[in-house]
Amino acid sequence: MKPKNAKLSIKWKIFLYILLFAAVMIVLLWLSQIVFLHDFYQAIKQGEIKDAAQIIEQNIDNEDIDTLIERIIHRYDVCVRIADMDGEDVYTSDIMPDCIIHKMPAFQFSVLAKETEENGGSFLRIMPQIKFSGTEYDTQRFMGNVPPPDSGVVESMIYTKTITTSDGQTMLLALNSVITPVNSTVETLKVQLLYITFILIGCALVVALIISRHVGKPIIKINKAAKKLAKAEYDVRFEGEGYREIAELAATLNYAARELSKVDNLRKELIANISHDLRTPLTMITGYAEVMRDLPGENTPENVQIVIDEARRLTTLVNDVMDLSKLQAGTQAPNITRFNLTQMIRDIMLRYAKLKEQEGYRIAFESDGDIMVEADETRIGQVVYNLINNAITYAGEDKKITVRQLTKDEVVRVEVEDDGEGIPKDQLPYIWERYYKVDKTHKRASVGTGLGLSIVKGILDMHAARYGVDSVEGKGSVFWFELKIQ
Ligand code: ADP
Repeated sequence: MKPKNAKLSIKWKIFLYILLFAAVMIVLLWLSQIVFLHDFYQAIKQGEIKDAAQIIEQNIDNEDIDTLIERIIHRYDVCVRIADMDGEDVYTSDIMPDCIIHKMPAFQFSVLAKETEENGGSFLRIMPQIKFSGTEYDTQRFMGNVPPPDSGVVESMIYTKTITTSDGQTMLLALNSVITPVNSTVETLKVQLLYITFILIGCALVVALIISRHVGKPIIKINKAAKKLAKAEYDVRFEGEGYREIAELAATLNYAARELSKVDNLRKELIANISHDLRTPLTMITGYAEVMRDLPGENTPENVQIVIDEARRLTTLVNDVMDLSKLQAGTQAPNITRFNLTQMIRDIMLRYAKLKEQEGYRIAFESDGDIMVEADETRIGQVVYNLINNAITYAGEDKKITVRQLTKDEVVRVEVEDDGEGIPKDQLPYIWERYYKVDKTHKRASVGTGLGLSIVKGILDMHAARYGVDSVEGKGSVFWFELKIQ
């Protein structure tokens, strides 16, 4: 089944995301390497020239200022000229062939000093680099001030700053550095970036394929298996290799498949059991009734009794199934009241009195006083009935059954003991399951429905009571449960 608004497959989604990522990277690269390269470069140069000026200003009174400046000019690639306000040189260091500040006559330098003072003590200009012929200096051109940035021309950056020495003398510090055009670099980068763009798109495609294969393949596999499960193929296996989430999903689905198959088996078993259990008494009833109709001599009280017994068995079975389904659905809350447990057991024992007489059973009740409990009286009665019925069914040769009531601290324990064949140890955990019969071929076991103990379990679980069985094979069993004394 495909969802109606079919979405993009995981492969294409991953590809789109990676492509988007690559596109962002490419745009960033283009912006930084091509569009804003000149501005970045200029900003870095400005920072450097200002740093150099600051270091010189801070150390102007230092004895080793010459060595320091020497180091700075090489480190920052700048020319340095320091002169007094009249343009008389104090220090000069010229490393560039066409350095404007060194080609500048003294009078022009003093004008520059004044301008710097008027500008608040520092001045930064950027202008096209002047080609000098000899020592000639073109004032007009210099006065042109900052031209619009033109990356095709070599530019000069001149930073001037007025500084004051410790003896109170004001001087002008001028630094000059060259900004080489980025045009040719940009051209190279453009070609490079074009290649990088194509390579990145290709890589995005390959990586998306690899990732989607890694991520998508197990999901597709699990989806296929899940479709099988939906068609009730419970032996399907979910494989979750690859990564943790998928492994967990596969484990969960495997668990779900196992549980579903259990439920399905149980359902089939339940139907088979019920129909079998219904069929046996019905065949008997029909058979006996037909015999009694056709052969007048067979119309004996014994035969009628058999029909009645079989009809009763049917009623018991139907009641048991109803009880169990009610218990399991949890639709009926227990009707908790305070009642005398000892009296209730005594009443039940009375009803077995006839059986004792007729069939020679010896059913004894031992109690240590009347005990009150808070529980669902009818249902606890059902538990006691079921346990005594089982004890009668599986009783030993001596036909002796003992019902015991013991109190300890706040708890009352009811035990039903028989000296029968007992239950094999490996079967003990299963006897509480529905339709479980220890020995399915045993003639007496066929009397029961296999539902009694699961009803007992359902009721006692509902009361959050402790219960269990101690059984020794060949010696007998003791079924017990405990309730709180109220
Ligand atoms: P059934 O209707 O067959 O008795 P139960 O649910 O009451 O079904 O019991 C399940 C199985 O547990 C029985 O088939 C029987 O093998 C075993 N069992 C129950 N009670 C006793 C007992 N007192 N002694 C020996 N086996 C017992």
